[in-house]
Amino acid sequence: MTEAQVETKQFQAETRKVLDIVINSLYTERDIFVRELVSNAADALEKYRHQSLVEKPEFDAQAPLEITIDCDDKEHTLTISDSGIGMTKEELETNLGTIAHSGSGKFFEELAEAVKKDVSLIGQFGVGFYSVFMAAKNVRVQTRSWDGGEGYEWASDGSGTYTIASCPGLHRGTKIIIELKDDAQTYASKFTVEQIIKQYSTFIPFPVKLEGNTVNTVQAIWSRSKSEISEEEYTEFYKFIGNAGDEPMYRQHFSADAPLAINALVYVPAENFEVAGMGRMQPGVNLYCQKVLIDQHSENILPEWLRFLKGVVDSEDLPLNISRQALQDNALVYKLRKVLTKRFIKFLNEEAKKDADKYQEFWNKFGIFIKEGVTSDFEFRDDLGKLLRFESSETEAGTMSSLDDYIGRMKEGQDKIYFINGPSRVAVESGPYVEMFKKRGIEIFYTLEPIDDFVMNHLGEYDGKKLVSADTADLRLPETTEENSGEDAKDKAEALPADQIEALCKWIKERLGDKVQEVKSSDRLVDSPAMIVNVDGFMTSSMERIMKASGQEEGFGMSSKKDMEINGASPLIKKLADLKQTDPDFAGTIVEQIYDNALIQAGLVIDPMEMVSRNYRILERAAGGE
Ligand code: ADP
Ligand code: MG
Repeated sequence: MTEAQVETKQFQAETRKVLDIVINSLYTERDIFVRELVSNAADALEKYRHQSLVEKPEFDAQAPLEITIDCDDKEHTLTISDSGIGMTKEELETNLGTIAHSGSGKFFEELAEAVKKDVSLIGQFGVGFYSVFMAAKNVRVQTRSWDGGEGYEWASDGSGTYTIASCPGLHRGTKIIIELKDDAQTYASKFTVEQIIKQYSTFIPFPVKLEGNTVNTVQAIWSRSKSEISEEEYTEFYKFIGNAGDEPMYRQHFSADAPLAINALVYVPAENFEVAGMGRMQPGVNLYCQKVLIDQHSENILPEWLRFLKGVVDSEDLPLNISRQALQDNALVYKLRKVLTKRFIKFLNEEAKKDADKYQEFWNKFGIFIKEGVTSDFEFRDDLGKLLRFESSETEAGTMSSLDDYIGRMKEGQDKIYFINGPSRVAVESGPYVEMFKKRGIEIFYTLEPIDDFVMNHLGEYDGKKLVSADTADLRLPETTEENSGEDAKDKAEALPADQIEALCKWIKERLGDKVQEVKSSDRLVDSPAMIVNVDGFMTSSMERIMKASGQEEGFGMSSKKDMEINGASPLIKKLADLKQTDPDFAGTIVEQIYDNALIQAGLVIDPMEMVSRNYRILERAAGGE
């Protein structure tokens, strides 16, 4: 071939950065490049196997599906070949010259951060191939696509450029020839490579032949019977399938024959990487049919909120030659998803019963996904209610309760489940909304995450009991025997008479104008003079907080309707009733301050400048001014 036929191309800028990070990384994790290349070879074989079922290609149809590894410790090269799907010239350029998601800057930043910290994460970002340059002086990729088109050779030393030239005489698949760096020549040793394959690639579902000998066990672990599989094998498989270094938190392995034939092996990881700032997770469960991979990291086989699961689902009922597009609205896939999801929810419930502490750990890390499920997935909403956990007035700080536990502790005559949202337990407990709950000994959930009210609103009710926020207007709490009736009588005796409080409410409403819809006498405040309650079940105070926090000024133009309730037994309110006669102006200033205080206790935004100057005016009076 002449020089002119060799094209030299620049790597995309992002790719150059990744190469830079890889080349300059610590080489303690160098072994992983073998894992990445073998896993690419296996992916290519899976793709071919699936393609061959859909299209029945003729080119090189007889070539056995396998991976071949050759070590040459004289030439210092390592060669990894597969008879997989191969690449066309265009595919070579996009797959080995650019980064798929680099369009989104955030993705790339996260990638760079993570890979700088730990090179072994490189595979999770879809750039595993480039790890080869930890060990390679020079890499040649010879490849020919399954359709029998022309073959090509791609070559690079990992600096700014690569070359592409045509390469005649190739069979289907890809051969990667690595010329090893001087300090990486151990990878030309059969012994070293065999160790690495045993450590990382045991579960590759194709024979991996090292110098002619198969070095892995090809049998699919999920189709074996549970009793034959050791804990170690399970964990190893998790690490393999999840590209993970941790040990899984939970594992569910089951087979069913009816209504569908299913073999499933799924894991909950030890950590939630989505929270740790790694961006949105891709689904982690692969769909197989009779041990043939149909859909890797399938978006169809489980609902989105279960994207944190890793593992494998195999169903013999699926047609082997189903295309990935056809999976999306396939009725059988839909059924599979339903069965799998129901079983996984049931599994979590059983685990929670078996070991509540461990479930709590799960909840702390992955509860956010369950909440996402409640708010986004109508189909499983009711089942998911059982999995929810919140702190409550009956739990110690930091420990949580299920809705079922709450129901078990409900007072006689209580038919609703109560909750109140707030930024912290301390803030909630010192606020006005829980006063009557405390007094009557009625349990109330403390929902301490901003999205929790959203979750409760979506769930609506649980086990036939309505979920009610304690800042709802016109809340009637059940009378309980715990309440000291003598004391109650005393409170009532001290409260303002009905006509006076009614007049006061009317006058306050006039002062506040449109800020509140109504001002009412409260029958559930104990110590606080006033509180803000929500008339509208949708635009609640916490919804308003979320909107404001996310920069939605007026909540899509929806104004939230609020009432103010005042406490006729509060000394301040009683004095206010007098002051309104003697000094209506100053009484009005106090009303505004009470209103602002109540807003603050509801977690809502006030105008701090106006509040402070008003507050000084009040203090001046209190200090003896006029
Ligand atoms: P990922 O495997 O996560 O996609 P890689 O950086 O490992 O990321 O590989 C990039 C792409 O290069 C793969 O998606 C695949 O399209 C292509 N590729 C790599 N190795 C092979 C191979 N042996 N056969 C066919 N295609 C390959
Ligand atoms: Mg890869």
